[in-house]
Amino acid sequence: MIPATRKIRLILDLRRRGITDTELLSAFERVPREEFVPEAFLDKCYEDTALPIGYGQTVSQPRVVAMMLQALSVEPGHKVLEIGMGSGYQTALLTHLCRRVYAIERHKELHRAAVKRLYALGRDNFTSIAGDGSLGWEAQAPFARIISAASAEDVPRRLADQLEDNGIMVLPIGGERSEQRIVKVVRRSDEFEIEDLGDVRFVPLVEGVPRSPASD
Ligand code: SAH
Repeated sequence: MIPATRKIRLILDLRRRGITDTELLSAFERVPREEFVPEAFLDKCYEDTALPIGYGQTVSQPRVVAMMLQALSVEPGHKVLEIGMGSGYQTALLTHLCRRVYAIERHKELHRAAVKRLYALGRDNFTSIAGDGSLGWEAQAPFARIISAASAEDVPRRLADQLEDNGIMVLPIGGERSEQRIVKVVRRSDEFEIEDLGDVRFVPLVEGVPRSPASD
């Protein structure tokens, strides 16, 4: 089966699983996932699985990315903060959905590779840094939307504070061993409404940046 056919099959599968946002499905159609996975996994790039991208990290499972992005309800005028850029795959999807993405990745090497891929695909409505996303991006706040691909123990207040009023944040909550849930946080002035969207497994949100390329 050629990649285009596999991609359509994956998109139809997402649709069946409740991803009904047409703009989002169209973004999945436009972003070539094959550009974001290591060569050894090319044959699996349109399977609904997470795949290793090095440094113990993975490009997230398409179904989970789609579910989180649908819950995020991104609009064309939005400024979106993304934590855990990883391969840059979700960043690419976001560049098709919003005005500008501010992306943070703690691994310098992953960050560098992601930026290179995104530019090679002609995506340029993003700004990114290698650093600690658990701090958010104060200088660029507030954000209409915040999404994290790495789980935190609890809703990080520091990130929630960088949401604009009525802003939405979607992220996994839970420890490395404990159960993880995807939650949606909606800011209402100084109150935060929290909705549980279900369970899932993610890599942890690690504070600080690695000391050497080889370390975690
Ligand atoms: N969205 C990514 C998923 C990558 S996995 C993709 O589509 O490829 C989660 C990523 O979060 C990893 O790359 C990991 O290094 C990163 N991460 C973990 N803690 C972080 C932190 N505090 N700040 C920024 N990135 C972090």
